[in-house]
Amino acid sequence: MIKEAYKIAILAGDGIGPEVMVEALRVLDTVAAKFDFVIEKTEKLVGGAAIDAVGEALPADTLAACEDSDAILFGSVGGEKWNSLPPEKRPEVGALLPLRKHFDLFANIRPAGVLPALKNSSPLKPEIIGEGFGFTILRELTGDVYFGEKNRGEDFASDLMIYRQAEVERIARIAFQLAKKSRNKVTNVDKANVLATSQFWRKIVEEIHAKEFPEVELNHLYIDNATMRVLTHPHDFDVILTGNLFGDILSDECAQISGSIGMQASASINSENFGLYEPMGGSAPDIAGKGIANPIAQILSVAMMLDIGFGELAAAKAIKLAILKTLEDGFRTGDIFTEGCKKVSTSEMGDAIISRIK
Ligand code: NAD
Repeated sequence: MIKEAYKIAILAGDGIGPEVMVEALRVLDTVAAKFDFVIEKTEKLVGGAAIDAVGEALPADTLAACEDSDAILFGSVGGEKWNSLPPEKRPEVGALLPLRKHFDLFANIRPAGVLPALKNSSPLKPEIIGEGFGFTILRELTGDVYFGEKNRGEDFASDLMIYRQAEVERIARIAFQLAKKSRNKVTNVDKANVLATSQFWRKIVEEIHAKEFPEVELNHLYIDNATMRVLTHPHDFDVILTGNLFGDILSDECAQISGSIGMQASASINSENFGLYEPMGGSAPDIAGKGIANPIAQILSVAMMLDIGFGELAAAKAIKLAILKTLEDGFRTGDIFTEGCKKVSTSEMGDAIISRIK
C-alpha cells in the first residue's frame, strides 16, 4: 500500500537559512527513500527575502502554503539590511510571530544537552558532563506576561502575568506525553513561593498529573534554583515544563550548554500536533554565504518533524544516530571545531551525515 505523502512547507528565509536548508532537505530525501515514505515539498519565501520580493515578511501565498501542509520547516530570518524597517515590518516580527499566532503554536519544545563527542565544545566541566546528557525544555509560548495587559503611566509601568486553566492543562499534557516517550520524568519550573500565577499553574499541573499521568514522575523547582541546577546537575532532568517568561530565559541558558547554537533545533506545535520546526539560532549574517555554517540544527529540525509531527520514529532515529556517528568520526564545522578534528564545510557535513544514514 502506498502511504499518503507528507506535505511540507519549506521556508528557508535569510542568511545561512537557505544554505543549511539544502543539507536538511538532502537528508530528508535520503531517509524518505530509505524508510519508504513520500515527501511533497512546497518552497516559499519568508522574512527579508520575501520583503525584497513582494514587500512583506509573510506573504499571503506563503501562509496559504503553510495552511495546506502537514508541517512547516523553517530556516531563519533577519539581517542588517532590514533593520531600518519599523519593528513590526522586520523579518522576525513580521514573519515568525504571525506564524506562531496564526497556527496557535503554544508548545515550544527545545532539546538541550551535550553529546559525548562534543564534550570539549561545552562550557560545562567534564566531570559534570560525564558521558553526556540530554533533556527537553517545554516552554509555553502564547501566554504569560508577554501577552497580558500592558500599562504605561508617567511614573509606572506594568505587564500582567496571566495564565488560564485551559492553557496550563494543554501544555502540561504535552509535557507528560513527552516524558512518557523519554525517561518518564517531568520537572515543573515556576515561582510558586511568590507568584499567584505560579501557584495556580502548579496546582493544575498536579491535577493533570494525578488524573491522567500518575505513572510519570513529577517534581517541582523554583526558577531561580532551576537556572543553577541545569548547570550543576544536568543529568537529573528529562522534561522541564515551564511558562513563557521563565522558559525564554532557561532555554537560552541551556542552548549554550551544547557548545554551539548551530547544534540546536526546536519545534513549536499546536493542539492538532501541527508544528513549525526550526534551528534555534538566527540567520548568522557574519558567516552567511561562506559555506561554513553548521547544518546540524536544521537537520535535527527535520528529525524532530519526523518524530513529533509524523511519527516516523525509525527515520528520525536514523538521522540522530548518523549525526552522532559523524561527530564521533571527527567531522566538525568551524563553530564546533576542536584540535585534532576534521574541519568541514556545510555541504561536507551534509555529505558525511547522509553517507552514514545510507
Ligand atoms: P545568530 O543566531 O544568527 O548568530 C549568533 C552567533 O551564532 C553568530 O556568531 C553566528 O555565526 C553563530 N551561528 C548561528 N547559527 C550558526 C550555525 N548554524 N552554524 C555556525 N554558527 C552559527 O544570532 P544574531 O547574530 O543575534 O542574529 C542575526 C539575525 O538573525 C538577526 O537579524 C536576528 O534578529 C535574527 N534571528 C532570527 C531568528 C529566527 O529566525 N528564528 C532567531 C534569532 C535571531
